[in-house]
Amino acid sequence: MEQVRITYEELLNENDELRMRLDEANDAIEAIRTGQVDALIVNSDGKHQLFTLKTADQTYRVFIEKMNEGAVTINREGLILYCNSRFADMIGMSLEKVIGLSFNTFIPPSHQNKFRELINHGWQEDCKEEIELLNCHRELVPSLLSCNTLELDEGLALSLILTDLTILKDAEKQLKIKNEQLADAHSATEKLNNELEDIVKYRTNELFLSREHFKHLANNIPQITWTNLPDGQVNYYNQQWYSYTGLSNEETVQNGWEKVIHPDDLRNTLDKYLAALKSGEVFEAENRYRRSEDSAYRWHLSRAVPLRNEDGEIVFWAGTATDIEDQKKEMERKDEFISIASHELRTPLTSVKGYLQLILSYKKEESPAMVKQYASKANIAINKLQHLINDLLDVSKIQAGRLEYAFSAVNLSDVIKTCIENASHIYPDNKFTFEDENDFLVFGNAERLEQVVMNLVSNAVKYSQQNKNVAIKTGKHFNYARVSVTDYGIGLSDEEKERVFERFYRVEDKAHMSSGLGMGLYISAEIIRNHKGEISVESELGKGATFYFDLPLL
Ligand code: ADP
Repeated sequence: MEQVRITYEELLNENDELRMRLDEANDAIEAIRTGQVDALIVNSDGKHQLFTLKTADQTYRVFIEKMNEGAVTINREGLILYCNSRFADMIGMSLEKVIGLSFNTFIPPSHQNKFRELINHGWQEDCKEEIELLNCHRELVPSLLSCNTLELDEGLALSLILTDLTILKDAEKQLKIKNEQLADAHSATEKLNNELEDIVKYRTNELFLSREHFKHLANNIPQITWTNLPDGQVNYYNQQWYSYTGLSNEETVQNGWEKVIHPDDLRNTLDKYLAALKSGEVFEAENRYRRSEDSAYRWHLSRAVPLRNEDGEIVFWAGTATDIEDQKKEMERKDEFISIASHELRTPLTSVKGYLQLILSYKKEESPAMVKQYASKANIAINKLQHLINDLLDVSKIQAGRLEYAFSAVNLSDVIKTCIENASHIYPDNKFTFEDENDFLVFGNAERLEQVVMNLVSNAVKYSQQNKNVAIKTGKHFNYARVSVTDYGIGLSDEEKERVFERFYRVEDKAHMSSGLGMGLYISAEIIRNHKGEISVESELGKGATFYFDLPLL
């Protein structure tokens, strides 16, 4: 066998030759990439093939090199003839290693079919589609791949432009998350909204029911009712108002009530109404309203109570007008009866009293002691009866506005001394003290003032069974003379204190009930009022009471 002998020199030459060709190849690649030459030799199937870019010029390639998309040119076999640095970055390899590789290398198996179809399509016409690239770290890079055919001197090549969609996809993902969050928030808001709507519906219904409830109630009570605003403007009347007055809604607005009130009651009612609006205290007045049915004025008790909010401000007033015509008539009839009865009783009483006096003063034949004793007891009873009848007469005179008497200068100390003397006779078990600051002169009626003091003193005795002390005092109070009567008995509650001066008022306390008709303080108050004075009481339940009156000094 003939041996091919290669000399050392030949080997050295061959080595130099190969090194030169490698340098040339590298230079060629660099030259093509930078646009210095327009050709490329690719080794395929053991042969070298030369590709030359027909349209290439340097500017164009520099431009491609600088763009943000990956740019690749492949031949029919799918080998990479050219790529820019951006593509090399996308797949994480150096530029020189990419050229000559099959583009398939960078397609994940799951996208191979899709890629093949796309490339086949690309050789026919321009097209683009999203595809995933596989980089050298085996990571997927979402990309948009556009295919355009490119005419080279050696024939057709396919230009691939790859847009990295990683940021876009991330943004899409974020957007999707945000959208989902937004959808969640939206459905939560919708739920809340629905709940709110339900609550509002429920409350509206409740409000409706409560308003209907109020209307139903207001329209089905016998009284007239209304509500008015804090400035006094009436904003609601119930049905009874319209039926009773015959006024329409239009006629009623703007203080329409003034049209149907009795002219004599208008001033007093208005004064009290305005005073109540100003003070915020309960309004109460008796007045007559004209009934449309028969044009008769009927007495009503009008009341309005303020409703306040949490801050104590008045929101509105609720008012009622109750027909008291029948009660008034009854009262009048009762007053008339009292007046007649007391007059009728007085005449026989005076005769009985006279006869008793005769029996007591009978001298001719000494009457038995027993008879005298009975007669004087009868006399005491008759005096009480007379006292009662006088009170009844006074009450009816007050009612009729006819309690009249003559006035002159009166020494209050004298009046009180007389009363104490009388009281000591009538109530021998009690102890009366008198603290007299001065001799006070007032302009009045001595008998009537005596009546007042006697009434206070006998009440002090009546309502103080345990402690028998009664203290009477006079003193100066501003320009008034004050007379006070103090006891240490059962005393009065706050409510009782306010009402004791009313006609026929008596405290309903069975345990301390004593005889009386509730007229004494009513008459006393009237007498003091006639004297331009004032009467009042200070008391604590169980500790006693001090009744006092002030009269203007002369
Ligand atoms: P009466 O005839 O019932 O005593 P008055 O008008 O004098 O009538 O008094 C009215 C009511 O006031 C009495 O029924 C009593 O309940 C109460 N009252 C009067 N004075 C006193 C007092 N000093 N202490 C306690 N309660 C009194």
